[in-house]
Amino acid sequence: MAKKIVLDQAKCTGLGICESLSPAYFEVNEDGDMVQLLQIEVAEGDLQEVQEACDGCPNEAIRLEEV
Ligand code: SF4
Repeated sequence: MAKKIVLDQAKCTGLGICESLSPAYFEVNEDGDMVQLLQIEVAEGDLQEVQEACDGCPNEAIRLEEV
């Protein structure tokens, strides 16, 4: 089942833990206060990595949802 990343911008503080765990999907912006999604849909082989990035976010700002 394909999954996509959902970002709650109100919760993200740009800590960048997600970027360090999954740099192909997450990149903190130049101001350092918000993450940008580089891809929304997650490839099958990347699901575990992106899930770990979501789990690693201390603000619970990102999650995976079925498409
Ligand atoms: S780890 Fe969470 S709070 Fe930090 S940049 Fe990523 S989504 Fe935002």
